[in-house]
Formats: sequence, C-alpha cells, structure tokens
Amino acid sequence: MIGSRNFCFLCGRNGADDRLEEHHVFPGSLRDKSEQYGLTVYLCGARCHRLGPQSAHRCRETQLYLKRIAQAKAMRENGWTPEDWQREFGKSYVEFDAAGKPIVEIGPVAASEQF
Ligand SMILES: [Zn+2]
Ligand SMILES: [Zn+2]
Repeated sequence: MIGSRNFCFLCGRNGADDRLEEHHVFPGSLRDKSEQYGLTVYLCGARCHRLGPQSAHRCRETQLYLKRIAQAKAMRENGWTPEDWQREFGKSYVEFDAAGKPIVEIGPVAASEQF
C-alpha cells in the first residue's frame, strides 16, 4: 500500500463521512501486479475514488499523479532500472534523471507521509 489505510492519499480526510476504499493504481490486466507490489492507495470512496470530478476513476490527471508516485515507489523499493519497470508494467509514466531515477512531484498529503 502507498500511504496509510487511515486517511485519503489525495485529500487527507479520514473516511468518517465518505468511507475510504482501496484503489488499485494500475487496473485491468495490471491489477494483480498492483496488488503484488503494493501499488494501492486508500481514497475517500465517493469524492476521491469513484465519483468526484477529480477522483481517481474520473480524472486523468489524478490517475497520472498516482501512477507516477506508484512507479517511483516500485522502482525504489525493488531497485529497478527503467528497463525493469518496463518489463513488469509496460508503459512508463515518469521522466528520469541522468542516473535513471524517476523525477516525481508529490502533493501535500503524500509529502507529509513516508510512502
Ligand atoms: Zn479504484
Ligand atoms: Zn479524499
């Protein structure tokens, strides 16, 4: 998991009035790999996961934001090169620095946590 199961990774709310749900950052055929490598986040079920205009299932920018963070995490934790990432997940969502490390901007909620 990226972040915490106790608050929304996008907005930081605790789920008291919009129950938190686990979102698989890479869905479809990559859902099992999302699970295997811990690339899931908890999000406010309606507002941030499924229904809101900026939610993970409705907003392409939000999807990309989560994918960039997830890719950086997986590469760091597994010691993967860009080629290793591509072998496992196909498409890359980040730019790399000269050393092959992902360059990712993280939002305020993510920045307040170790992930
Ligand atoms: Zn989802
Ligand atoms: Zn939220």
